[in-house]
Amino acid sequence: MGIWRVKDRIKELEALAMGLEPDESERRRLLSKVTAYAEDFIQSIAKRPAYRHKAASDRKLESFPISKKGIGLDATLRLIEGCVDFPGINPVSERFLGYIPGGGVYHAALGDYLAAVSNRYAGVYYAGPGAVRMENMLLAWMVNLVGYPGSAGGNLTSGGSPAHLMAVVTARDAHAIEGEKVANSVVYLTEQTHHSVGKALRTAGLRKCVQRVIPVDQHFRMRVDALSGAVRADRSLGLRPWLVVASAGTTNTGSIDPLQEIADVAQKNELWFHLDGAYGAFFALCDEGKKKLAGMESSDSMIMDPHKTLFLPYGIGAVLVKNANGLIASFRDWADYMEDTSTIEPGEISPSDVSFELTKHFRGMRMWFPLMVLGTEAFRAALEEKLLLARYEHERLQAIHGVEVGPPPDLAVVVFRYRPERGDADRFNQLLLQSLQDEGDVFLSSTRLNGELVLRMAIGVYRTHLATVDYALDVLAAHAEKLAES
Ligand SMILES: *Cc1c(COP(=O)(O)O)cnc(C)c1O
Repeated sequence: MGIWRVKDRIKELEALAMGLEPDESERRRLLSKVTAYAEDFIQSIAKRPAYRHKAASDRKLESFPISKKGIGLDATLRLIEGCVDFPGINPVSERFLGYIPGGGVYHAALGDYLAAVSNRYAGVYYAGPGAVRMENMLLAWMVNLVGYPGSAGGNLTSGGSPAHLMAVVTARDAHAIEGEKVANSVVYLTEQTHHSVGKALRTAGLRKCVQRVIPVDQHFRMRVDALSGAVRADRSLGLRPWLVVASAGTTNTGSIDPLQEIADVAQKNELWFHLDGAYGAFFALCDEGKKKLAGMESSDSMIMDPHKTLFLPYGIGAVLVKNANGLIASFRDWADYMEDTSTIEPGEISPSDVSFELTKHFRGMRMWFPLMVLGTEAFRAALEEKLLLARYEHERLQAIHGVEVGPPPDLAVVVFRYRPERGDADRFNQLLLQSLQDEGDVFLSSTRLNGELVLRMAIGVYRTHLATVDYALDVLAAHAEKLAES
């Protein structure tokens, strides 16, 4: 191709590529339609089921493959509405009471929008000093919230699971658990420990570590006497006690392990103490939660999930390590093409120095934006409200005929089960859950405790208030009554 032909071709391509750059009126058109859709969605949340098995329309996502010309905005929004925003659980519903709920506050969506428009580079300080400082300020805020010292550091992750992985890697490297040491190093946890801890251990190459499952008490909290005993026994076997993982808020029941006592055992035995605060740690924002979480500051590392109890949309977690140098030792790396990025600002750690990520979502914005616009008060109030709602619900459940309640909730998960007058209790509760899910109005989930199927009501969507809890209990009782008669 001659040079003139090349220039013509470049111009042709330029015209085609301009589709990526809508002009101002097109941007306004797109945005107004998207916000109109979002507004309809938000207005209809209360009317929508908390769970729906089937899609809203017969339209199938897979009938619309990625294509050369695209299908335009209107058809795309219709697909989202019919195929994505409908089937499955509805995590923004006030009547979503399953697993660990959160919700997804609106202001965070606006923060995400702004972060995506400016596309700031939040991986390296030099490239996005404001973005990195913002994320570091959020981490410092969390460090302070949980009672860690100023020497602590952390990283905003995409969720709790990668946060666990980073903590486990840091603990592994700090204790040099490698080679043949792996197989005689011991990790202590309980049957209530979240399964993402085991996944993190395996991902970190520690599949062969010994995992000691420490018994729990009647409140499903780790028994510290049993922990001490196990550590002692392992030592006498010539094993190397390495890591203890406690939970501050288990997923099953919201139980908080005895943190200070575990910290004492850890310190005495030179164990790394890692705390799973994915669900519970943000309750430290309110006084009652803070009291219950006493001792969490004595851990060596922890995780917390803003996409749960800070009510942010899915995709943000955090790992905190008491000695930030440990994180840096495990994750800082170097490459020739990054030489000009090495201007280190005193006090500012680049996220890429404390994470396996380099280029990453500027996820700090979705957390910082709502906190700056609203302040912390509404978050604090919502968390305290949830604690009290759980206590209220625990009381009310006891008054329902045939219900057996679990221990008083440490946080905002209430476990219970029906004890039917005749027939198998597991079967009855299973059918009850099925009946609730078929209707979809209220969503609960189940788990097994001491081998028995129990129902869980987790109060964690910020939209869930007193009237919701009353309503959910009425719906539950009605379904149970119908089932008992059938
Ligand atoms: C949700 C949860 C996790 C895992 O976090 P993800 O953000 O889902 O990866 C870990 N531990 C506990 C206690 C949790 O509730």
